[in-house]
Amino acid sequence: MPGFEAFGEEEKKHVNDVLESGVLMRYGFDGMRNGHWKAKEFEAAFAQRMQSQYCQLVSSGTSALTVALASAGVGAGDEVIMPTFTFVASFESIMMLGAVPVLVDIDDTLTLDPAAVEAAITDKTRCVMPVHMCGSMADLDALKAICDKHNLLLLEDACQAIGGTYKGQPLGSYGDLGCFSFDFVKTITCGEGGAVITNNEQYSINADQYQDHGHDHVGNDRGAETHPVLGYNFRISELNAAVGLGQLSKLDTFLAKQKEHYTIMRNALEQVNGVTFRRVPEGGEENYSFLNFFLPTTELTQKAHKALGEAGVDACFYWYTNNWHYINGWEHLRNLNSLGRVPSEIRNQIQDLNNADFSASDAWMGRTISALVKIGWTEAEVQQRASKMAEVISEVLKTEYSL
Ligand SMILES: *Cc1c(COP(=O)(O)O)cnc(C)c1O
Repeated sequence: MPGFEAFGEEEKKHVNDVLESGVLMRYGFDGMRNGHWKAKEFEAAFAQRMQSQYCQLVSSGTSALTVALASAGVGAGDEVIMPTFTFVASFESIMMLGAVPVLVDIDDTLTLDPAAVEAAITDKTRCVMPVHMCGSMADLDALKAICDKHNLLLLEDACQAIGGTYKGQPLGSYGDLGCFSFDFVKTITCGEGGAVITNNEQYSINADQYQDHGHDHVGNDRGAETHPVLGYNFRISELNAAVGLGQLSKLDTFLAKQKEHYTIMRNALEQVNGVTFRRVPEGGEENYSFLNFFLPTTELTQKAHKALGEAGVDACFYWYTNNWHYINGWEHLRNLNSLGRVPSEIRNQIQDLNNADFSASDAWMGRTISALVKIGWTEAEVQQRASKMAEVISEVLKTEYSL
């Protein structure tokens, strides 16, 4: 998945343009910038690539989620439904606004289970936030039907699935709003950065203002602009945007390479009796940043994960225990360990996460291994890795599946 594997002349050229003018900010200084508007250029190119009308660049994927929620009017006491398997940014962005995260189970797509979502809806629910983890997607048609029925926002976190598609549409462009991250380990990176896409003009205006202290960005005298709403500073710098512009031009090459490497690994594991694969919703195409598979039991999966590490197969992740991506690892959230007082809406409404029943999620996560797909491997290296993985896993499963 990582764009950090592939820096080159494209990024250097855009960064040098910025350094030569010395204008490191995305707004203003029109006379000094030698015509370079990297953030604006990135926004136009990204909106087009994602088949969306509007794009707002921001400082990170986490701020993209915050800005997206804020732009649609989500605020104190509003409930936002999110999955148990995600990155901590999901609840961070929700709670930042005084809104309340409602955690629900995942299914064999490793994303929100639509039935669990519907069961969690209350009169305070405002938004459903599926997270397209590890390169593949939630069942967006089912979630959209639920959102339409209950008049809820659908906000896609596509930070880990950029370039994947659902029924021909880029992930992130299907819901009311979509969010992306360009942090250092994502498919394309600009060091730190993120983006919100939408086809809703009002949300795009709100996002533009909110991420820059409420500035209306009308005219060319920043100091004299009006501030229709309260905002914050979630701006991206022109330097980061310049790196991103270079990376964006290579996104489709990265995706093609990922698919090639993923396919080699998948073909090898298809041969192993007892290995099954994460379900991709009908009409979906992954972005191939991870190969995600299940083994028959939690115990065997833990054994296999350990054996893969011992055999020198790196970058295979077991999220279920001691990991930042699953609720088991979020003690600080479960106990609401906050530096300051937590808004009363959150304190009053949040689930008792220490005692909530997420056994349906456990049943999938306990059996999941995600193998990172890198683009820098040679074909011979991927072949070797793939046969090693198949060999190690077969050995672990041998006792169960020999007869
Ligand atoms: C990386 C990531 C984010 C947050 O992005 P940052 O740019 O690191 O803030 C949010 N959601 C998911 C699923 C991610 O993987």
